[in-house]
Amino acid sequence: MEGISSQNSTKRCVVEVCKGGVASGWRKITGHVLSKAEANRTLAWYYVDRKGEYMCLSCYNGIVVNGSDFFKNLTLEWERGLKKRRKSDNLSVSESIKLLANIIFQRDVLGENRPIIDFLQLRAFVEKESELLIPFFDEIEAAADMENKNETERQ
Ligand SMILES: [Zn+2]
Repeated sequence: MEGISSQNSTKRCVVEVCKGGVASGWRKITGHVLSKAEANRTLAWYYVDRKGEYMCLSCYNGIVVNGSDFFKNLTLEWERGLKKRRKSDNLSVSESIKLLANIIFQRDVLGENRPIIDFLQLRAFVEKESELLIPFFDEIEAAADMENKNETERQ
């Protein structure tokens, strides 16, 4: 068994829920470690791309050797959270655009209104028509970083 040496003290366990304490050894995260974790259903998203880094022996035992319930539950919780998020994103981008185009068509063409040019006005109007488009606008806004842009434009 690897002892505690000054060399080991520079390593940090990548496992977020690591209970810490005095590590009795380290295991490098290799492709083999990850595939064992996947087989144990204890694979966590955040160390998938941390190959070459280390987890402490007690986390390694829980994740790779034993596949402990503790780590299994964590992985399950994470997967559930991911699915829930996916489900709540009701519309795909193309569905959102279709719906948006439809709302604008009804307002501008059928309603014979002048088009809204201002993004925030458009957003306010469309979101009143359909709450389903709120996440879509959130995304656009985040992507365009509107707040920063508006500030520099104002200046
Ligand atoms: Zn650990």
